Amino acid sequence: MEVEVLFPINAGHFTYAVPEELRGDIKVGVRVSAPFRGTTRVGIITGINGPSGRAGLRPLMGVIDKQPLLTDGLLSLMRWLTNYYMSSPGIVLKNILPSGLLLLRRPGRPRIVYGKATRLTGLVRLNKEQDRAVKEICREEKGVFLLHGVTGSGKTEVYIHVIKSLPEGKGAIVLVPEIAITAQMVDRYRSHFGDDVVFFHSGLSEGERLRHWWRMRNGEAKVVLGVRSAVFAPFKEVGLIVVDEEHESSYKQFEGLRYNARDVAIARAEIEGARVILGSATPSMESYYNAERGRFRYLQLTRRVDDKPLPHVEIIDMTREPKKTWIFSERLIRALEENNLRGHQSLLLLNRRGYSPYIICTECGYTYKCDLCSITLTYHKDTKTLNCHYCGSFKYPDPTCPKCRGIRLRYAGIGTQRLEEELTRLIPRFRLRRMDRDTTSKKLSHYRMIKEVEEGSVDVLLGTQMVAKGHDLPKVTLAGVVSAEIALNIPDFRSAERAFQLFTQLAGRAGRGEVPGNVYIQTYEPDHYVFEYVRKNDYKGFYEKELSLRRELGYPPFSRLIRILISFTRREGIEGTMEEVSKKVREMETDGVEILGPSVAPIEKIRNRYRYHLILKGREQSLLRRRASEILAYLNRMKGLRVDVDVDPVNLL
Ligand code: ADP
Ligand code: ZN
Repeated sequence: MEVEVLFPINAGHFTYAVPEELRGDIKVGVRVSAPFRGTTRVGIITGINGPSGRAGLRPLMGVIDKQPLLTDGLLSLMRWLTNYYMSSPGIVLKNILPSGLLLLRRPGRPRIVYGKATRLTGLVRLNKEQDRAVKEICREEKGVFLLHGVTGSGKTEVYIHVIKSLPEGKGAIVLVPEIAITAQMVDRYRSHFGDDVVFFHSGLSEGERLRHWWRMRNGEAKVVLGVRSAVFAPFKEVGLIVVDEEHESSYKQFEGLRYNARDVAIARAEIEGARVILGSATPSMESYYNAERGRFRYLQLTRRVDDKPLPHVEIIDMTREPKKTWIFSERLIRALEENNLRGHQSLLLLNRRGYSPYIICTECGYTYKCDLCSITLTYHKDTKTLNCHYCGSFKYPDPTCPKCRGIRLRYAGIGTQRLEEELTRLIPRFRLRRMDRDTTSKKLSHYRMIKEVEEGSVDVLLGTQMVAKGHDLPKVTLAGVVSAEIALNIPDFRSAERAFQLFTQLAGRAGRGEVPGNVYIQTYEPDHYVFEYVRKNDYKGFYEKELSLRRELGYPPFSRLIRILISFTRREGIEGTMEEVSKKVREMETDGVEILGPSVAPIEKIRNRYRYHLILKGREQSLLRRRASEILAYLNRMKGLRVDVDVDPVNLL
């Protein structure tokens, strides 16, 4: 007897012989220990074969589990992931299991422990639209539903009702973007499901992650509320997968296995015969298109709970508007002050962290660049450093220009730190909190900040896109955007879609309580088509407009993309190599698949790697993948370069 064993490394299966005494314990899906490159490793059996007569096979050392660790559903999903994302099976394994399960040593003790479950509460009475959505979903056993509900329309209640209706023994997975797992959200699920719900997020210790994993695997927990990786929850049977805020790009993993948890959810539900609810106030172009074409069932919640009005949105044209300072219009400042005097809270969005996006020498035009990346460095005032937002490296600025030794250096543009400084200067009495990646790097700091806003000890919460996500803060009645054009000027075909989603989501934070909300968007590009649709809260109008542009360019949802990223650590010889690649690609048959490039990637260098890419575009998924694997096979034979493949990329930078 021989077995195929998979390890969590970038490789395929390895074959081992099975010693006589272990034969009775061999099953597909159990963990084994086996000798591997001079050490002992833990792997998973993925296949059992008769003797091949191959000489020199090494024997397994031990079998760890009595029952398979991986369910049949997860084993099938692994095959799907390997094939769809053109990855190695080992990397897929590494992604779907907590790393602690495949270590020889025992993991440490859990660090964060939640209190005992709170008392279970009754269900709220659904309104007509919610009720209809729940009924339609419960009528089917499988399929994908797009729940398109305006912000504050009570989508979470719909999810909870459907979960409650699941038959005994079926698990539910609720995916939310990392930032949305606030104490508030946790409480809400706990109050309904008590100890039956577990939470999966990046704040868990490895020990706690393992404990939760086993509770799901053993059928002790029935619901998981978690981020991206919770889509691999090991329930024996899955009845429902919810993907809340399905449009969020944080469902996509940007390294290693570049999967999108939303798409994996759909694949998993298909494999296991479960339902999927994709929820959003601003569905992705792809999902809405799929609903229009009848691939997803479309359900709508058109009004806010209790018929609360949607906020009033004003676009402020900064080219004409009277200004208080170079950052703020008089109108926005007045609105912030008045809102505060009425005892309400405000949100302020500026989607750029740091103090100043670049320091420029006004004599020679010099700006600081990262040594490792082709990126301009951002000045951070708190640390007095110039930081690279791509690789995390930093340096200290000189008092004079490094190039011409001039002394007139200017801090150009604004980031959240400068916004905070400026607003403090203008209205010193405001109690501000700044929420961006720099202030939320500590565990739970983000939760704490939201808690402070809930408790009323904050007047204005300002920050990057983080302030726009998911929270239900009843005293927030005003939301403002500074430099809205930043979101529009990203060189990516999805930038208008992202901007529309961001502004609509931000607006959706305002006026969820008793008092209606107001939204002010400051921009130097007021004529951009995005703003008109944001102002009128016209999702459908935006969708139609954007769709016609995508059709012209043949971009998704009218095509699928696969991006192949080629990178080099040494500059010498790149041109020659890329010419060869280019020639090879031109020779290939391309019926039905358009190949763009190879060309230099928009960000030419990251972490000292020179980057090039090829973009394959086509309607037919299988054809596209076939073409990509031919190119990959060719590239993998070449020396001195690294190849990464990204199926359904969410950005092309
Ligand atoms: P969404 O996720 O669509 O933005 P939520 O599910 O967070 O909306 O609901 C917004 C608020 O309305 C929450 O505080 C929720 O408890 C409340 N709510 C939802 N449905 C109902 C209902 N049928 N009756 C009363 N309150 C509700
Ligand atoms: Zn860098």
